[in-house]
Amino acid sequence: MRKKPKTNRVRVIGGGLAGVEAAYHLASRGIEVDLLEMRPSTMTDAHKTPLLAELVCSNSFKGDDPHTAHGLLKKEMRALNSVVLKVADRTRVPAGKALAVDRYAFANHITQLVESQGPINLIREEVKGIDTDIPTIIATGPLTSDAFTKDLTSLTGRDRLYFYDAISPIVDADSITMDHVFFGSRWSPQSKDYLNCPMDKEQYYAFIDALLAADKVKPHAFEKKELFEGCLPIEVIASRGRDSLAFGPVRPIGLIDPRTGKRPFAIVQLRKENLKGDAYNMVGFQTRLTYPAQQRVFQMIPGLGSVKFLRFGSVHRNTFIDSPRILKKDLSLVKYPGVKLAGQIIGVEGYMESAATGIIVALSMLAYLKDIPFSPPPPSTAIGALIHYITDPNVEPFQPMNINFGIMEIPGVAKSIKKRSIIERESYTFRQWVDSQIQLNLK
Ligand SMILES: Cc1cc2nc3c(=O)[nH]c(=O)nc-3n(C[C@H](O)[C@H](O)[C@H](O)COP(=O)(O)OP(=O)(O)OC[C@H]3O[C@@H](n4cnc5c(N)ncnc54)[C@H](O)[C@@H]3O)c2cc1C
Repeated sequence: MRKKPKTNRVRVIGGGLAGVEAAYHLASRGIEVDLLEMRPSTMTDAHKTPLLAELVCSNSFKGDDPHTAHGLLKKEMRALNSVVLKVADRTRVPAGKALAVDRYAFANHITQLVESQGPINLIREEVKGIDTDIPTIIATGPLTSDAFTKDLTSLTGRDRLYFYDAISPIVDADSITMDHVFFGSRWSPQSKDYLNCPMDKEQYYAFIDALLAADKVKPHAFEKKELFEGCLPIEVIASRGRDSLAFGPVRPIGLIDPRTGKRPFAIVQLRKENLKGDAYNMVGFQTRLTYPAQQRVFQMIPGLGSVKFLRFGSVHRNTFIDSPRILKKDLSLVKYPGVKLAGQIIGVEGYMESAATGIIVALSMLAYLKDIPFSPPPPSTAIGALIHYITDPNVEPFQPMNINFGIMEIPGVAKSIKKRSIIERESYTFRQWVDSQIQLNLK
């Protein structure tokens, strides 16, 4: 059996949203924390200040309504005493139903809180290597420094560390207009693996024109040179010629529309995102269109006229590990139980998702130091669903995921009542899990 570590000191690398939560939750339970943040001496290409928990883009943490998946996540984080949410509530600005903050006041407040909080020792230094004998939490985020990335590959293996997100949108199966689509994979009409959205010539060219004219997110300078030919955004493929998509990701080859007996001009394929089949991935639709543009342009596709997006597409620089193959459910590396990871680097997507895993990794580290077992919340809760998803070996290939009802597991429940049941079950199972964690001094 592993020997109980004789230390009450933990290194947290990275003072972003996940690192701050991890340091705060460990320190508030009496653990001494060395929090290492490389800014301002080494900056990333997106951060602008030396402040901890700086928000690099939007100032919104999305919706707060507990009837939504984002709201449930926040509810659980509040129950776990999230410092990020505590400060967000104090620095919020009016934004309708969303929780948005004054970004400077938010980061400034967090920085002051951490600086004044014993026993956190804030060290402004770029970490370039990992000592696996020291209990360590790695929370260096999507823009992990180059030197550290190199060292990280010695723990993860080079082929288990990725540098780019090329995310296709995921849509809610219930919102697809089934009369307009048909099942079947290429050359195999009986297969139920794919749903096909057929386009005639007119629909295809109208779609291409809208796609080319739509608003795109501008890539950062550091992202421009790094696009891989193998996963180009669809609008980039379309810009190479109006027919290029029809010969690429939306080619109709091998697919006959059973309603007409003919091969359509083009076909957008949707692939099951999970075993339940309640969410579909738009195959090959990684994109830099803005979210409103995705909503408008992709709803032009036959069958998707009133589709609900569970996740929008994106393409951006993002360092993340192949968690399903190298991370355990307690967020430690399979080979090194005292080295744990949290935040965007483990393949959760978004500010809140990252911060939530910072809380969980702190509890997991606490359990490790006390030499007691640790289990994350069950997959029917919002935080548990995220952790389950990123550590599920069946998820292949792995791409980062944000919170949505599609990943919250609730076996054997009819679809029509699914959302209500998810919310009811979440409340019950999350409370049960919290009660079971009293031994970790969670409250
Ligand atoms: C360009 C861009 C735009 C984004 N926009 C959004 C958005 O609008 N909404 C959203 O929800 N999410 C957005 N994200 C995702 C967002 O980055 C994460 O949601 C969140 O910031 C991740 O939190 P984190 O703690 O994992 O990483 P971060 O918040 O990035 O924190 C990591 C910290 O580690 C430090 N660090 C890195 N390497 C080292 C090292 N070797 N030694 C010491 N310190 C180190 C960094 O300086 C940083 O402070 C965006 C990401 C990027 C890259």
